[in-house]
Amino acid sequence: MEPFPETIRPLSAPQGTASAPPPDPVRAGTRPRSLSTPLERLPGVGTNRAEKLRKLELVTAADALMHFPREYRDFSGAHSIGDCVAGEHASIAGEVTDVSSRLTGGGRQMLSVRLRCQGGSVRAVWFNMPFMTQRFAVGMKVVIAGPVKQSGGHWEFPHPEVRWLIAGEQAHASDWLAVYPLSEGVQQSHVRAAVQAALQHAADLPAEAFPEELLVAKGLLPIERALREIHCPSQAEMIDAARRRFVYEELFLLQLALRMHRSQQETRHAAPVIAVDARIDGRIRARFPFPFTPAQTRVCGEIAADMARPQPMNRLLQGDVGSGKTAVALYALLATAATRVPQAERAPGRARLRPETYQAALMAPTELLARQHMATLERLLEEVPGRVRKGDIKLELLVGGQTPKRRQAALDRIASGEAQIVIGTQALVCGAASFRHLGLVVIDEQHRFGVVQRGILQQEQADPHVLVMTATPIPRTIAHAIYGDLDVSTLDGQPPGRQPVATYRVGPNQLESWWDFFRKKLAAGRQGYVVVPAVEESKRGLESISSAFENLSNGPLEAFRLGLVHGRLSPKKKQQVMEEFRAHHIDVLVATSVIEVGIDVPQATLMTILDADSFGLAQLHQLRGRVARGAVQGVCGAVTASGDEPHGRIDAFVATTDGFELAEKDLLLRGPGDLVGTRQSGSPPMYLADLLRDASVVAEARRDALDLYLRDPTLADPALVRMKQLIVKRWGETLGLGQVG
Ligand code: ADP
Ligand code: MG
Repeated sequence: MEPFPETIRPLSAPQGTASAPPPDPVRAGTRPRSLSTPLERLPGVGTNRAEKLRKLELVTAADALMHFPREYRDFSGAHSIGDCVAGEHASIAGEVTDVSSRLTGGGRQMLSVRLRCQGGSVRAVWFNMPFMTQRFAVGMKVVIAGPVKQSGGHWEFPHPEVRWLIAGEQAHASDWLAVYPLSEGVQQSHVRAAVQAALQHAADLPAEAFPEELLVAKGLLPIERALREIHCPSQAEMIDAARRRFVYEELFLLQLALRMHRSQQETRHAAPVIAVDARIDGRIRARFPFPFTPAQTRVCGEIAADMARPQPMNRLLQGDVGSGKTAVALYALLATAATRVPQAERAPGRARLRPETYQAALMAPTELLARQHMATLERLLEEVPGRVRKGDIKLELLVGGQTPKRRQAALDRIASGEAQIVIGTQALVCGAASFRHLGLVVIDEQHRFGVVQRGILQQEQADPHVLVMTATPIPRTIAHAIYGDLDVSTLDGQPPGRQPVATYRVGPNQLESWWDFFRKKLAAGRQGYVVVPAVEESKRGLESISSAFENLSNGPLEAFRLGLVHGRLSPKKKQQVMEEFRAHHIDVLVATSVIEVGIDVPQATLMTILDADSFGLAQLHQLRGRVARGAVQGVCGAVTASGDEPHGRIDAFVATTDGFELAEKDLLLRGPGDLVGTRQSGSPPMYLADLLRDASVVAEARRDALDLYLRDPTLADPALVRMKQLIVKRWGETLGLGQVG
């Protein structure tokens, strides 16, 4: 909640004057302040606020300017009493007719300010804010804004925002108050103070990336105007205009950076040619216990075509949970390990293996998943004894749980080229391993969209092909916009014989009968999961998992064999429990969301998610995906504390099993989320919701950036100097674009 309402005033905005006192001219004029001035040195911010703002990573004037509002409140005073709706935001202009302060029955001090306004009167109230009393006097003209409620037959504004109108000023329809993203302990007033101070006092504003000509041609606001409008809109339409400019700029620069990166790669780095001929293709497919679906066949073909070219593949494979992405990944890994390194391209030094093949790496987000992929691969190589026997392809596991000695031995075999397929966690494969002839990298279950890993994967001689897999689908245009040079493959549909998981919302009244049902299925020989939410890092979290386990094993699931797996178990123990579960020595696996990603035990078909409200929609869908893997229909109960009242997330979850549909719903329900994942300093974060809303801008920026690139690939035109500098500043390090500037 706000400590006290504040007025905001854009000092040099084209219109909109308010009654905040003008800045002290002496202080304001003493030293030049720039974008890099620390916030505590700006008038009106102060050390205390500056300290708090650090939590939002706002340190300098530039940081504050680039901290964009989440939304805006109508502060125009345009509403009349008749427009008020209980619980909703309203903004009313009026004259103070009464100011009174009293103690309430509960011992709180209550300030009550009555306003006469069009159509009657309203009341604003504050509790325990004695200093507010002095800010009002009878006869003052103010605008108050905030959610309203009915109280004793009147409209009441509890703790509204206030704007004091100076003599003669009319409330007009162009006042929009910015509402900023916050974090714990940071208040709107802190951020507003910092943003206003930066707008008023920073002598320089962020540089304009675009030449005048382009701004005009594209109808974009110049940077200075856009910054003022995004923080203090002069009118409602300017909010969109300002946002459009920033979305355009962000994507334009990113697209251009990615395109330049790609051309550098193509000229500086070749990729190994991995040609999958019909013989290899047939041999690999024959190893799988099932025929590939048409979608899998198509995607494998797309990947094979990419890898056959001497430029690095950059492909995103998206497919819903359970759509069979792993099989595609394994296909690509096996194809790579089946390809010999030509004599001319051998790395210097004697190879221990002869003939040498390319190496392929699969990076998983967790150790559990890495081990599971390894087990799947081992089974594949075992099951069909053919010309390639197990042992003919050298597999290597690289995970945190290994002893230092084993780890070193694995790293040695990777460096010597002996290890052909390496499966491990991202940290290790990316950070610790150095390969002799890395041909392909597959990154599994990449939820966050980032461009960061790309720099890391560059090698001395040839860059590997890269395949990124995700179960969080994003529309193709957006994927293009974010990745720019990434090609997208989609695995649509599910392998044959799948049935959608029957999903139920289980309220307190149905819990009893849900457990009856769950037990009946278990007694009939089925296996399942009970998922419990927990903050695994905290001690309390651990206790809550243990007590949930106790409650289940002494309560509803007393008669069954339970196992427990959570993030704090040692990898070895985790692995052991998983194996017991797989071997059906355990009936029910009680687990935290460590099983959310990727775990594949097809015969487990039951799931109870406790406290389902505490999971996000994408997470719920991932969890449910664990019981959607076999021919028997999966069943999932989402247990919630709420009774029958509507619940956006749970209701959406129950209503559909289509991940694409859910992803869209999720966006709508959740609002903007962090999209690019890594926020580059000096650049605003991009929001996926914004991108969806601004899909046309996204496409336009991409097209324009590519156009410009084709005309002037090195940005040699002097009018593009600022653009070039900005690109290097934002993306240079990540994408290795140093030499462009
Ligand atoms: P995800 O896309 O979620 O990573 P997986 O690759 O783990 O999905 O596959 C889910 C399940 O479907 C696995 O048990 C896998 O063996 C099975 N599967 C994959 N492809 C096929 C197929 N073509 N026919 C039958 N089952 C398949
Ligand atoms: Mg998977």
